Amino acid sequence: MSKLEFGPMPDAQGYFGEYGGQIIPPELQAVMNDIDKAYEEIRQMPEFQDELKTLFADYIGRPSALFHARRLSEKLGGAQIFLKREDLNHTGAHKVNHCLGEALLAKYMGKTKVIAETGAGQHGVALATACALVGIPCEIHMGQVDIEKEHPNVVKMKILGCTLIPVTRGTATLKDAVDSAFEEYLKDPQNYIYAIGSVVGPHPFPKMVRDFQSVIGEEAREQFLSRFGKLPDYLTACVGGGCNSIGLFTAFLNDEDVQMVGVEPAGKGLDTDQHSATLTLGKPGQIHGMKCYVLETEDGEPMPVHSIASGLDYPGVGPQHSYLKDLGRVQYATATDQECLDAYMMLSRVEGIIPALESSHAVAWAIRTAPTLSKDKTILINISGRGDKDADYVAELLKL
Ligand SMILES: *Cc1c(COP(=O)(O)O)cnc(C)c1O
Repeated sequence: MSKLEFGPMPDAQGYFGEYGGQIIPPELQAVMNDIDKAYEEIRQMPEFQDELKTLFADYIGRPSALFHARRLSEKLGGAQIFLKREDLNHTGAHKVNHCLGEALLAKYMGKTKVIAETGAGQHGVALATACALVGIPCEIHMGQVDIEKEHPNVVKMKILGCTLIPVTRGTATLKDAVDSAFEEYLKDPQNYIYAIGSVVGPHPFPKMVRDFQSVIGEEAREQFLSRFGKLPDYLTACVGGGCNSIGLFTAFLNDEDVQMVGVEPAGKGLDTDQHSATLTLGKPGQIHGMKCYVLETEDGEPMPVHSIASGLDYPGVGPQHSYLKDLGRVQYATATDQECLDAYMMLSRVEGIIPALESSHAVAWAIRTAPTLSKDKTILINISGRGDKDADYVAELLKL
């Protein structure tokens, strides 16, 4: 196996190449630097590492399984397909990996409240779960329009004991929920913590969230090596903010022979204005306190984005992905809403595994690519979450 040499990232100022940083007022930079300091402290502490390891095992159910999708591989007639089953985690997706880390950090720092926004409610449920476990108050801001659309997640958050703040201003969707949650946070940033839901936002969040998610790739690398004595040829994962994909990729970055592909939503087509392919069609800019690739309108506002998978519609993307794209270490591809639906149905019917619509983007890439590769090649897909949450919506679209 040949080796590349990626050192530790980001640098001390939070930069991955030219991306990342802390594009926020100096008072907030000081608060972020305190979070970074506390994080660097606990990650060196054996007690913290032990606690996290035990919770990963006994609470989340890690390591998540590595599954050989034999029937799908046979049907496609090319590369062998493997699935990393993050859908089997407690709460049904990968987000709990970093929410647990963030909740433990908040507790260590003596924060009195964890605040976040949520769009479709996935981040809200994972965070409310982690806060219930750790025993720290949690406040989730959610647009009224989303509250009406996402009833199951709304009631779950209430059952888990978080305070749900309905946001009625503006369009009453994710963007307004972000503003509302951020205003609440600014009332007392010393005592509150804003728990960011992906590898985005100001330093140290892109680093911290990546570190908590890196368990995915560390496990997969070990599972593959011990079972097959070699590494996969391709890794693929969907990219919204980019945390499940960076979580899979990190342990393999220095393995030169392992090719990595992040899959963005092409929505209704890259030639329409209804997609969310930030790395594919965006350009370097600024959003939410960081420098990264951004999809912008002509007047420099974040573009309204679209994807069939609500967890992927974000006009920015993690700074580390922006850097890895420029370096060419990771390739970024896209899948349309239609390809994603087809992939959702195919994995369900051929393997009995219903993937989240988000994860289905990576499945769609594998379905397209496997037949072009020989049978001795392997593709590992990260199944970031389970698709029960999307079942009613898919049934309606396909008139099942
Ligand atoms: C939130 C979510 C995503 C997208 O987030 P990333 O930060 O890109 O990983 C992907 N899959 C599922 C199941 C999600 O809930």
